[in-house]
Amino acid sequence: MNSRRTISDIETTVAGERRMVLPGLVTAHSHAFQRALRGQTQRAARETGTFWSWREAMYAQGMALDPESTYRISRVAFDELRACGVVAVGEFHYIHHQSDGTPYDDRTLLSDMVIEAALDAGLFITLLRVAYFRAGAGRAAETGQRRFCDPDVDLVLRDVESLRAKYRGHARVRVGVAPHSVRAVPKEWVRECAAYAKKHSLPLHMHVSEVQGEVDECLAEHGVRPMELIASVDGLSERFVAVHGTNLAEEEATLLGEARGFVCACPTTERDLGDGLAPIATLRERGVRMCVGIDSHIVTDAIEELRALETHERLRLRRRVTFEPTIASTPAAQLWLEGSEHGARAIGFDPSELPKTAIDLGQPALALVDERFALDAIVYGGNGLDARVIADR
Ligand SMILES: [Zn+2]
Repeated sequence: MNSRRTISDIETTVAGERRMVLPGLVTAHSHAFQRALRGQTQRAARETGTFWSWREAMYAQGMALDPESTYRISRVAFDELRACGVVAVGEFHYIHHQSDGTPYDDRTLLSDMVIEAALDAGLFITLLRVAYFRAGAGRAAETGQRRFCDPDVDLVLRDVESLRAKYRGHARVRVGVAPHSVRAVPKEWVRECAAYAKKHSLPLHMHVSEVQGEVDECLAEHGVRPMELIASVDGLSERFVAVHGTNLAEEEATLLGEARGFVCACPTTERDLGDGLAPIATLRERGVRMCVGIDSHIVTDAIEELRALETHERLRLRRRVTFEPTIASTPAAQLWLEGSEHGARAIGFDPSELPKTAIDLGQPALALVDERFALDAIVYGGNGLDARVIADR
């Protein structure tokens, strides 16, 4: 297939240097404040340790944030990302208001703190302004969710509008719209957010089917599965990014694939939370474009995220080879392009706008490796800490 790119198509050779220069790695889904939770949620009892008990700890962390700590924690998270070769982040930002739910005088203050932290860390950022309204169908927001919520979707879109105006023309900042999930917003909000994103050609991100409970609630409230609901309000397009997609049914994969949308898998977080494994091979077969996200910052290793996208699928399918490369000549090159160029497009950047990621070919992980297999060795056996961002494009 002519459209499959070879490694030499992807790599930029730098004369006289033993390094491989590749498209810059992108993490398309992040909650930077959750970096402060690392190590704190690993002692739960077997009976009580679930996604939902982890969420309680995360809400407590969220309640404690102020503008200064939002900047400080985000900066730690972003510095660490950049140190392992990541060039851009899609920040799914949902803590907007004060702890009692009252907006700050400057409604986008916390978004600005996150953006500033990313810029100071040397990253490109897409601020995905989250819309959040309720705990679930017919259930008002809980105390720990008040900081996320707005009483109507017009206020959400007004904030997106002010962020767009503030960062218009900024080479390193984009803005997108993110209805949190079909659980956290009513159907009409998804429709409004999708229409706004379409009108302004913005990325539209949503958590989709991370846990089975969300699918069951959606079926009970709307009589359809999450992706079907999003399709019914014209939400699917090549700008739509479904985060996780753990419990997607085949017909939902088909809907998303036909729209040329993305699934952003977050393998290191999904395994930490015990979420389960998305049907990655099926998603690929249906034409869904894959990308990856660090999500909860439980592990900061952009190479591990790429590798897990494929190796978890091997465990799920009990098969050594889980996909036929369609955009590159080898599985490793395809995984790299998914983690770089797909990630860039998923957050609204053209890959050519972003810096590159360089791999030191003299690193210990590549000892004994024939250079023809260097990219395979990096993706399947390398360490993110040996990747570097370089500024030359
Ligand atoms: Zn998330």
